[in-house]
Amino acid sequence: MAENLAAAGLASSVRPSVLATLEASLASGQCTTDPDALEAHAGDASSAVPVRPVAVVHARSVEDVQATLVWASEHGVPVTPRGTGTGKAGGCIPQAGGVVLSLAGMAGITSVQPEHGFAEVEPGVVTGPFRDTMEQDFGLFYPPDPNSLDRCTLGGNVATNAGGPVALKYGVTGRYVMGLTAVLANGTVIDTGRRQPKGVAGYDLRGLLVGSEGTLAVLVGLRLGLLPRPRAVISALMPFASLDAAARAVARSRQQGLLPRALELVDGVTLSRVRPHAAFPVDPSWGALLLAEFDGEPGTPERDLERFVDGLEGAGPDQVRIAADSAERTALWEMRRQMSKLVKIGTLGHISEDIAVPVGSIPTLVQRLQRVAEQHRLIVATYGHAGDGNLHVNILWEELTGAERAEDAAEAVMREALELGGTISGEHGIGLLKRRFLPLEQTSPVLSLQRALKSQWDPVGILNPGKIFA
Ligand SMILES: Cc1cc2nc3c(=O)[nH]c(=O)nc-3n(C[C@H](O)[C@H](O)[C@H](O)COP(=O)(O)OP(=O)(O)OC[C@H]3O[C@@H](n4cnc5c(N)ncnc54)[C@H](O)[C@@H]3O)c2cc1C
Repeated sequence: MAENLAAAGLASSVRPSVLATLEASLASGQCTTDPDALEAHAGDASSAVPVRPVAVVHARSVEDVQATLVWASEHGVPVTPRGTGTGKAGGCIPQAGGVVLSLAGMAGITSVQPEHGFAEVEPGVVTGPFRDTMEQDFGLFYPPDPNSLDRCTLGGNVATNAGGPVALKYGVTGRYVMGLTAVLANGTVIDTGRRQPKGVAGYDLRGLLVGSEGTLAVLVGLRLGLLPRPRAVISALMPFASLDAAARAVARSRQQGLLPRALELVDGVTLSRVRPHAAFPVDPSWGALLLAEFDGEPGTPERDLERFVDGLEGAGPDQVRIAADSAERTALWEMRRQMSKLVKIGTLGHISEDIAVPVGSIPTLVQRLQRVAEQHRLIVATYGHAGDGNLHVNILWEELTGAERAEDAAEAVMREALELGGTISGEHGIGLLKRRFLPLEQTSPVLSLQRALKSQWDPVGILNPGKIFA
């Protein structure tokens, strides 16, 4: 590791006197080396091994971010931006000898401009409360809804181009990013993007920053587009006898001329692990479950659901249960949000993959995943945003020897997705965990172009080094 850092021209450790100059440029307490703070900023929600930073900077202003990056460029110290660490690819895990730059404290809603259809926010605003405020105070809708929305930040969502259940109808975070304010590695502040729906002047640097995982610049201001709020929403549970049947229903859904806002698939393995904790009865006979949601003007979601189920014909569910009220809807989604935690109970370890394939290939994909589980003698629990082809594949093991087989199984899962014309990451990003697999998906000219962009934006290589590219 020390050799790699030296090759990149980065410091492998920071002398106390050098750290003191950073502390001096910030308000008291903003730069901390407290062991508990270092521990709390060492890992994320993935299975990647945590790495303690040498210090954590709690940014409160754009100037704090500039001071940190200028200092880091001068001394060759790696800086890893961080929201709230809910990432699932190891993206905010610091480089050994580096500093974590936490944006969680920059959490103000700067302005809401309903007449222009956007809000301007700092990066540390938490996604769920932001959506609630837009809806309750302004009657507006900010669609992106990653299942971590009670904790993740809007800055983290932009940096990972996060998706979520309603991305099926409304698209992922990037669709709502109208403009960005970012601090470059040398401390320069740039504004990129637009204030109106259209704007095609020059290259789309805004688009380049979306999903850049903290490797090109630190996002300090976000201009996010808002939509009129749909007036009615319904959620329906649809159990199927088998996973194959549910997957076939997903594949047919695209041919019906209807777009649910969410269409989530849960396999039988996940259901059996969730059953003891579920807020509603999960029948042991269910082989899989679809959770569908429709929205629109009052009355239309019910009609759309009926047409949707009718359109499945022989491939339909065994029953359709519509959530009676918003409390029941909330309970359903709460259970869905807990899945990533519940499937792991009682296991010795896990690897979570986040593949996506063209929707019509979902039935083939689930069959191949079952084959991977059998071949590697592991438990594979699959659920996710199947309506847009994105499945979370949890490879679980309950005995010590499982870990090695799981690594092979994870690679097999990614290869299956690629063979079906898909991607190794539908929404979590590449981070640390998938960087060695990126060349399976992208050709060397495409990788070289991206590396060239990285070195243009960050010549010293201080910004989240070691992420995305091996
Ligand atoms: C239970 C659970 C459910 C989840 N569900 C979903 C889901 O449905 N859809 C989905 O897409 N993801 C999901 N995730 C993954 C995760 O929540 C998202 O990737 C989220 O966008 C990360 O936000 P964060 O604030 O936690 O970012 P972090 O984990 O702190 O950071 C993630 C990446 O963004 C970079 N970054 C963060 N802030 C900035 C900034 N201001 N400037 C530059 N770079 C920055 C970091 O360097 C890192 O590379 C889920 C995670 C959990 C634990």
